[in-house]
Amino acid sequence: MSAADLTTLTAAQAADLLAAGEITSEQLVRAHLERIEATGRADGLNTFLHVDAEGALATARAVDEDRAAGKPLHPLAGVPVAVKDNIVTTGQPTTAASKILDGWVSPYDATVVERIRQARMPILGKTNLDEFAMGSSTEHSAFGPTRNPWALDRIPGGSGGGAAAAVAAHQAPLALGTDTGGSIRQPASVTGSVGVHPTYGSVSRYGAIAMASSLDQIGPHARTVLDAALLHELIAGHDPKDSTSLPDEVGDFAAQARAGAAEGGIRGMRIGVIRQLQQAEGIQPGVAARVADALEALREAGAEIVEIDMPHYRYALGAYYLLMSSEVSSNLAKYDGVRWGLRVEPEEGPVTIERVMAATRAAGFGPEVKRRIILGTYALSAGYYDAYYGSAQKARTRIIEDFTAAFEQADVLLAPTSPTTAFRFGEKTDDPLSMYLSDIATIPINLAGVPAISVPAGLSEDDGLPVGVQFIAPVREDARMYRAAAGLEAALEKAWGAPLLQRRPAVEDLLAASGEADAEGVSE
Ligand code: GLN
Repeated sequence: MSAADLTTLTAAQAADLLAAGEITSEQLVRAHLERIEATGRADGLNTFLHVDAEGALATARAVDEDRAAGKPLHPLAGVPVAVKDNIVTTGQPTTAASKILDGWVSPYDATVVERIRQARMPILGKTNLDEFAMGSSTEHSAFGPTRNPWALDRIPGGSGGGAAAAVAAHQAPLALGTDTGGSIRQPASVTGSVGVHPTYGSVSRYGAIAMASSLDQIGPHARTVLDAALLHELIAGHDPKDSTSLPDEVGDFAAQARAGAAEGGIRGMRIGVIRQLQQAEGIQPGVAARVADALEALREAGAEIVEIDMPHYRYALGAYYLLMSSEVSSNLAKYDGVRWGLRVEPEEGPVTIERVMAATRAAGFGPEVKRRIILGTYALSAGYYDAYYGSAQKARTRIIEDFTAAFEQADVLLAPTSPTTAFRFGEKTDDPLSMYLSDIATIPINLAGVPAISVPAGLSEDDGLPVGVQFIAPVREDARMYRAAAGLEAALEKAWGAPLLQRRPAVEDLLAASGEADAEGVSE
């Protein structure tokens, strides 16, 4: 197999070929490293903030040796993975795409990283994100935005734009991300990949740099539902180091994904459509059309479509931005110029602890992070606590109740993931509120802690860019979510042929064209 072919393999296909001895992990890792080198660096898609070629190759060679020696291996052993740079790793930096953590190397591994190391998946590197995972476009990264592999002048979503773009551009078959308000699913949606927000508490958050702890969740990025399920199974399960970790056994996600894709796999499943979301303003016509196609495909596969009311849906965005900012203001108080990364002394006057903290934060945090810290501090201040934080908590409870009621009428819910396809750079940076509206369909899920998966639903007719739809399941029913999602994936594959869903964006051509355009600019 040529190096180019190796990067087109899904994780499940690569795992099978490795097990059969038809390819080696070293070949697989090398092929992905070459592709990152060719398309992922700062002057390319800018997907990676750090690449650990040596570390990844060392793991790969060791796995190959053990396989040759007939030692027992995890099914994903030797399959490479990328890690979002707000998940801590020993041996390479973790920055959360913030200047305040530039150059910081964690003394310990996140639990999810420990698990991928135990399974011996080579870690390719750390992917770009909006600073501290705050944003929907990766434009808030202190190290420059990631470009969308489908159109270089477009955002790859956020905050996990680096991870989603890396997976969509075939630089990695799998990646680990974090989803506080949609940061795995929305980037998946706008890059034509798969992204999962697991049930809150089912995957350890230990070692995820905290943004808003009651909402943060680690989950998989992949190109297929089955691949996401395989990685999810590996990282899920109880962790005593995370006080909100559930004691549950890990579900049979991959088996359910296979069952859902089989003939009749989702027959009789009741799929709820949220009326308020279907009619929400700001949904791009091309997105609405793909959601309608997906529903039609599900109906043809034997599912039953039911309409669901979520009366408190309209409070979700406001509640999220208050609760999230409040938690952010508390979680980020630890970046004080003393314990981590950057330390800046005041330009003049006495060097007191307060003044060092102020100078460090002024220089180290970007505008979006500052905006949220200030908003959260205000919302939590004594005079406003009840009016803002208290009301937002009440709205959150109502939204949870809406989901509980919805799941009495439907097995899973289906909704658009992002109201639009990938927008252009700069389109929303001057207007934070319009950026926040990108999360309108993803944040209710985080508020309720329920699992959801974004699946590619084809390209929009408006602009030819990817559209994603998400399946939402009740708390602890992640397995059901995989079944439904794989059912849709199979139905769409049948309707359109696999190439539309598995298609690889022509990144090389786009990069070459933009390089030529730049060169012309210089010679003029
Ligand atoms: N885009 C959302 C925000 O800016 C979600 C972020 C996330 O999930 N980390 O808050």
